[in-house]
Amino acid sequence: MHLSIRDELEQIRSRGLFRSTRLIQGRQSARVELDGREVLLLCSNNYLGLAEHPALTEASVSATERYGTSSGASRLVSGTMALHELLEAAVAGFKGTAAALAFNSGYAANTGVISALVGKGDVIFSDRLNHASIIDGALLSGAKLVRYPHNDTTALAALMEKQRGKGRCLIVTDGVFSMDGDLALLGELAALKTRHDALLMVDDAHGCGVLGEGGRGSAEYLGVLSDIDIHVGTFGKALGSFGAYVALSSELRDLLVNRARSFIFSTSLPPSVLAASLAALKLVQSPEGDFLRKQLAANTALFRGLLRDAGFSTGDSSTQIVPILTGEAEPTMRFSEQLLSEGFFVQGIRPPTVPAGACRLRCTVMATHTTADLTRAAERMAAVGRNLGVI
Ligand SMILES: *Cc1c(COP(=O)(O)O)cnc(C)c1O
Repeated sequence: MHLSIRDELEQIRSRGLFRSTRLIQGRQSARVELDGREVLLLCSNNYLGLAEHPALTEASVSATERYGTSSGASRLVSGTMALHELLEAAVAGFKGTAAALAFNSGYAANTGVISALVGKGDVIFSDRLNHASIIDGALLSGAKLVRYPHNDTTALAALMEKQRGKGRCLIVTDGVFSMDGDLALLGELAALKTRHDALLMVDDAHGCGVLGEGGRGSAEYLGVLSDIDIHVGTFGKALGSFGAYVALSSELRDLLVNRARSFIFSTSLPPSVLAASLAALKLVQSPEGDFLRKQLAANTALFRGLLRDAGFSTGDSSTQIVPILTGEAEPTMRFSEQLLSEGFFVQGIRPPTVPAGACRLRCTVMATHTTADLTRAAERMAAVGRNLGVI
């Protein structure tokens, strides 16, 4: 039956799943002005505070003055700008790969890369909790999509055995799972990819800049940096800029330039963004980057500890993404509304972002939060959580 747009919206509302955006005035700092009031921001991926770092702003402004505001076309049409090449060389150096390619966003990278690497007759093994852009890329590719239970490498091994010999094989996983804050078992995935002659692709949107001694992400943290065939990361989260990169072999890069439709058919990133990303990469590899990572780790340990002590379930989180598991959509949204009325901005996460019954408040910690802010937030969360029967 044909459903009118009004009825469809009504259906979304009646399920408690209606979404809308909120207006932030000013910058994305630890405290932001939301609907005219100052609130503590606990839902940003600007983990290191680089989105307002003067080094990024300066680099961005001076690149605009020097190179203008736009790249003018896709790189295969009007050419690559010097800044694209500089940025890609910096990414390859950072990740220890032969080459890198910039994309306009993590979403564009995942959809473009996956559909370029595999197609009809090939098989994709994807963790059940992977980001939506990975799933969209997999569907777009036309390859067979095999979703394995979250972080269950025993189940994955059996599934791979069953598909043996059926075309090109791609294992794809988030490095840090975006709604749970836990890590992929990259060592075990690397062993499986070797055994099955597969490609291993890791989307480290939330690990890049944050995890590992040098901020190289979850693969560095787990000691398997050189075992990953395709590293995807974003510049819009911890790196405080915008866009994404793929770090890989020169051969794979050539394939993407020729096959990745989100690269081929889209105007490339502008100078201001490229320069900010370059400045961010330099910063995360400096002593200041080390300091910010330590600050973030200390803030995370404090905040997660306080929530757990209060009786909340934070799942398997071991990173700056700290979910408070709440169950159904309705109490989750009441929880986040009450916190907002007390000056704490945390998003409730509902289907389709997470499975039904797995709603949560997704809290994210920043290096720029103060101990007092996080302590107060955890106290108020515990009080509201008790009121609502979450704990
Ligand atoms: C945010 C995110 C993306 C998308 O990146 P954008 O640059 O925001 O488009 C991809 N993968 C994961 C795991 C993410 O969290």
